[in-house]
Amino acid sequence: MINPFDDTYFMKKALQEAETAFEKGEIPVGAVIVVEDRIIARTHNLTELLNDVTAHAEMQAITSAANFLGGKYLNKCTLYVTLEPCQMCAGALYWSQISKIVYGASDEQRGFKTMGTTIHPKTEVVSGIMAKEASALMKRFFIEKRNLN
Ligand SMILES: [Zn+2]
Repeated sequence: MINPFDDTYFMKKALQEAETAFEKGEIPVGAVIVVEDRIIARTHNLTELLNDVTAHAEMQAITSAANFLGGKYLNKCTLYVTLEPCQMCAGALYWSQISKIVYGASDEQRGFKTMGTTIHPKTEVVSGIMAKEASALMKRFFIEKRNLN
């Protein structure tokens, strides 16, 4: 039997969050955290609204999931995020001991890989899930932003 709850299924949910961010004028990055095929956190980037450079989708997802679980470690959780995490988020994910990170588009400039940030050795990393959709949304955002100025 095919499991409908695959990486693409949850990445679509993260992309919906990214679209919500887009509509609010935030850089469109969305994230969900999943435990046993159940979404326990849905967040998107809110750095403009909160005037807070730490308000990345992943940071909020970590806090939200820990609140839901009533514990700080996310070692049974999978994070789905539309863009490769930055070094701040990769660092926070390290501390959370999250079991798996799935991201969409790569971030050649500010992604953790370029920055040389280490992910927790026990964390599995999958990349490129719906990358085209995620980067198309980012491109559309920056084109529209440029046209407004
Ligand atoms: Zn980040």
